[in-house]
Amino acid sequence: MPATFRDGAFDKFDNRVTFDDGGLHLPDRAHHSSLRDQVTEALRAALIAGQMKPGVLYSAPAIAEMLGVSATPVREAMLDLVKEDLVVPIRNKGFRVTELSDRELDELTEARLLLEVPTMGAVAAAYESSMEPELTRLRALARDLEAAAATDEITRYLQLDTEFHTRFLALHGNNEIVRVVRQLRSRSRLFGLEALARSGKLVESTREHMQMIDLAVARDRSGLEELTRVHLSHTRTIWATDQARRSATDPS
Ligand SMILES: [Zn+2]
Repeated sequence: MPATFRDGAFDKFDNRVTFDDGGLHLPDRAHHSSLRDQVTEALRAALIAGQMKPGVLYSAPAIAEMLGVSATPVREAMLDLVKEDLVVPIRNKGFRVTELSDRELDELTEARLLLEVPTMGAVAAAYESSMEPELTRLRALARDLEAAAATDEITRYLQLDTEFHTRFLALHGNNEIVRVVRQLRSRSRLFGLEALARSGKLVESTREHMQMIDLAVARDRSGLEELTRVHLSHTRTIWATDQARRSATDPS
């Protein structure tokens, strides 16, 4: 049965929408072709950050109100996310976030390491001055990331982080790798990111983005591979910390 979101069908569920920081932000970049794409990106970041939680029912009008847009682009964005298996439509009510097992999260991290580490190494090995205009854009993104980390803007941080890493990987020239990595990142969950931001540790790991650019310019293949491995393993550590916290409060 095709997913359908009918007008007015969601209003009575509005009070079930909860976001940890109450904040959901649209990306403020001009090159996005449509509002639908902007809403999809904002929701994707909220999913990765765990601000939209598995098991909770979300309605299009409630999310539309938080984003300050009409319900139509939100419903369209939801259908995009349904196709990616990130959410499941609940007839006449809205949609529910897909739950991932511990094993699935481990597999996503391993797949990202296998793809991203050697590809970043290859970018460093192939560095040439013609890459400079793109590296200038990456430096600007790295500065924006540091600012977002310092001000705890988690969804903006995740949007910028995805753009930084996919643009960096794209310098290798294989669009298929970029596409798959983007998908793997969308399906990841970083439940502990907000706590990390509050502790100030996110700013520390964010400095690695600028170091990655320096290592590429220095053509330091093994150095960039090692830093990419460390950087991606934060994902696993952040997640493991949250697991530990949850099992400590829930003995079952
Ligand atoms: Zn990053």
